[in-house]
Amino acid sequence: MSAAGRTILVLNSGSSSIKFKIFRADEPFLSGLIEGIGTSPRMIAEALSGDGRVERKLADDADHGTALDAAFSYLFGRYPDIRVDGVGHRVVHGGTAYSEPVLIDDGVLGELERLCPLAPLHQPHNLAGIRAAEFALPDVPQVACFDTAFHRKHPWVNDTFALPRSYFEEGVRRYGFHGLSYEFIVKKLCEVAPDIADKRIVVAHLGNGASLCAIEAGKSVGSTMGFSALDGLPMGTRCGQLDPGVVLYLMQARKMTAGEISDLLYKQSGLKGLSGVSSDMRELESSPDPHAAEAIDYFVFRIRREIGAMAAVLAGLDGLVFTGGIGENSVRIRELVCRDMGWLGVELDNQANGENRMRISAQGSRVKVLAVPTDEERMIAGHTAKLLTA
Ligand code: ADP
Repeated sequence: MSAAGRTILVLNSGSSSIKFKIFRADEPFLSGLIEGIGTSPRMIAEALSGDGRVERKLADDADHGTALDAAFSYLFGRYPDIRVDGVGHRVVHGGTAYSEPVLIDDGVLGELERLCPLAPLHQPHNLAGIRAAEFALPDVPQVACFDTAFHRKHPWVNDTFALPRSYFEEGVRRYGFHGLSYEFIVKKLCEVAPDIADKRIVVAHLGNGASLCAIEAGKSVGSTMGFSALDGLPMGTRCGQLDPGVVLYLMQARKMTAGEISDLLYKQSGLKGLSGVSSDMRELESSPDPHAAEAIDYFVFRIRREIGAMAAVLAGLDGLVFTGGIGENSVRIRELVCRDMGWLGVELDNQANGENRMRISAQGSRVKVLAVPTDEERMIAGHTAKLLTA
């Protein structure tokens, strides 16, 4: 069967949620979300054919496995003719071994388990999703698609830290994340902006997680994220770039444990920690609290600073693309990021930006500025179908 004819289930398992999407013949057919795992789980699913929306409360003690069972029993009950040909999983970390999607077997799963300490907020939940899907669909091939893979061909200087070389060999290096999103954007640019698609682009993926990627001729040459998904820009609850001396201070002077520091840096920092209001940009934008405004100022300041750095890595800039929940939707953040960037050739069309159009740069802008919705699930479905056909 051709890749195009396959039915692919895509799973994106997080700590308390599982997003699932079914693609039939390359087109999304059904989309769903299980949220509140660990507290008060519920499933919401919607067939994109207009069959209506389903919302179900699940047992309070449902874990990833039982939650996924509930999703499957709804799915196969409602659409008994569905035969899933392959399951594609979003996996945050592929380490040094995986620069392409891979068919999952016990050996691969073992390798991925070893990477859990490098992405403690995501990797264990990604693997819980794989195990649950293997249990529920034992005869269906499972494919892992990695957020790190798109960055694996970085020049060495972009991948290393200035530590003794043995650490690099051991795997202590800059990996970069959000690769499935960047890969999708590169593909999309070939359709919507072919004049810049193979040139020098900075993509700003701004969601709960946030990073920038410098892309040249369709390849990643730099990322603000590094060894873990903590580095670079401040995020919803993650700190972004931090002097490692702060971590030493927390250990030595404050006597904080590794677990406490991890909780601080991954869950209590970023927009949430700075504002004391929320990790959610919409709430910050509508809050009268001056700390919410300061959190936005810091977010914008770091994005602007890193765009300058990425333009230097690229030795110039031809395109700037905003994506992710904030990048795709926040008129204000895009306006603040692009303000006074004429020195870099960036001129925003404020009306186009205000209307959330795809092209938001002014006619004479040397750099083309775009807001493009990302679609990591579509990328995963495509990779999975292709691997099954190979
Ligand atoms: P994730 O990284 O979890 O996939 P998303 O890409 O969905 O996150 O982005 C979530 C962020 O996008 C939240 O901070 C949310 O407030 C923000 N967002 C969504 N819509 C808007 C909007 N219209 N204006 C400003 N921020 C928005």
